[in-house]
Amino acid sequence: AQPPPRRVRFLFSDTGGGHRASALALQGAMESMYPGQIECDLVDLFVASKVWPFCEAPAAYRWMAARPIVWKLFFEAGATPLGAWINEVLTDMLCGRRYRELLAARPRPDCVVSVHPLMQGPALRALAANDGGTRTTPFATVVTDLGSAHPKWFHAGVDACFVPSDVLAHVALREGLRPEQVVQRGLPIRKAFWRGRAGLGSKADVRLSLGLDANAPTCLAVGGGDGMGDLAAVAVGVAEALGRRPGRSQLVVVCGRNEAVQADLDARAWPDNVRVAVLGFVSDMERYMGAADVLVSKAGPGTIAEAAAMGLPCVLSSFLPGQEAGNVDFVADAGFGALHEHPASIGRTVREWLDKPAQLEGMAEAALAAARPDATADIARDLAKLVLGTRTASHV
Ligand code: UDP
Repeated sequence: AQPPPRRVRFLFSDTGGGHRASALALQGAMESMYPGQIECDLVDLFVASKVWPFCEAPAAYRWMAARPIVWKLFFEAGATPLGAWINEVLTDMLCGRRYRELLAARPRPDCVVSVHPLMQGPALRALAANDGGTRTTPFATVVTDLGSAHPKWFHAGVDACFVPSDVLAHVALREGLRPEQVVQRGLPIRKAFWRGRAGLGSKADVRLSLGLDANAPTCLAVGGGDGMGDLAAVAVGVAEALGRRPGRSQLVVVCGRNEAVQADLDARAWPDNVRVAVLGFVSDMERYMGAADVLVSKAGPGTIAEAAAMGLPCVLSSFLPGQEAGNVDFVADAGFGALHEHPASIGRTVREWLDKPAQLEGMAEAALAAARPDATADIARDLAKLVLGTRTASHV
C-alpha cells in the first residue's frame, strides 16, 4: 500500500502579493508532480499568530509601500544588526508559542518552506522546540525577491536556500550560508507561464479572445497585486503619448485590487485613437502579457519574472527602495527594459519602442534569455527530495 502523503507547510504573509504567489506556484507544482505523495498547505504566520502588531502586517505593508520613504526607513532599520536582533527577540517573545502551535498543527508537516524574509529564525526555533530541542523537520527558504533582498532572508540554519539570480547567490554566501546550502534556480511562477507564449495562440488571437483590438500596438500597465506605483498617473502618461502616435494604439491597465485607481481611470476621457481597457484584478495575467507588446510596471519581482517568461519588454515605472532596487538592474543588465519614473518619460519610451519593432523584437529575445521558466518545477523537485528522500516523481 502507498504510504500516506507527506505534508509540506509553506510559511508566507500577504505583505505584497509575491510570497503567496510563489507558495501557490510551488504547491501546484508539487501536488501535480507527486500526486498522492505530497500535499501542501500555506500558513500566513503573521496573520494566523493573531498577535498584534504582527497580525496587521499585510495592511501595514500596503500602507508603507504607498509611502516609499517610510518603507525605506523600515527596510533599512530591519537590515541593521540591532534592528534584526530586536525583530527576532520580539517575534520569539510575542509569537513563539503561537508559531510552535501553527508549525505542529495537524497534519503535522514533514517539511517546512519559508517564502518570507522574516520567517527564518523564529520558525527554525519553533520547529526545533517542537522536535524536542534539535530540529529534525527539513526546512528550506525560497527567496521571492529577484535582484536585491533583505538580509533576513538568509539563515545559516536552513537545509537549503533557493535563490533566483547570481546577485542573490552572492548575497546568500556573503550572509554566511555555505555554498552547498545555496541552490540557484529562478523565481517560482505560476504554471500558466511555464511555456511562455507557446502556451497561447498568436498575439492577434489572444487579443481577440480578451475583447481587444487584434492589430493595434498594445501596452499593458500593471502595479503588482495592489495596483501600486502611482498607476493612474502612469496610465495617463502612456495614453497621452500613444495619442500622439499616428494610427490606433491600445492600453490595458490592470489595477489589481486597487479600486480607487480603477474608479479614477474609469472616469477619465482618453485620446480618440487610443483604446483603453481598465480592469481590476485579473486571474489570467499570462493572457494579458501575451496580448501586449510592451509592459509598464513597478519593479515587482513576480511581474518581472513573468514578463521575462513571456518575452515581454518592460518599462519599469518605480521600485520600492531596498528589495526592488536590484530588480531594475536585473532587467537593465539583461537588456529587456529600463527604468523611467516620470509619467511623460514612461509614455515617450513606450511610444518610441512601439515605433521600432526591430528593437522591440531584440528586447523580447533578451527577456526570454533571462527567463527561468523551469524554476518552479526544478525547486519542486528539489523540495520533494527533502521531504520524500529517495522516492521519485511519478510524472513531471
Ligand atoms: N497579479 C495578478 N492579477 C492582477 C495583478 C497582479 O495575478 O490583477 C499578479 C502578477 O501576475 C504577479 C503578482 O500579482 O504574479 C504581483 O507580484 P509582484 O512581485 O510583481 O508585486 P507585488 O504585488 O508582490 O508587490
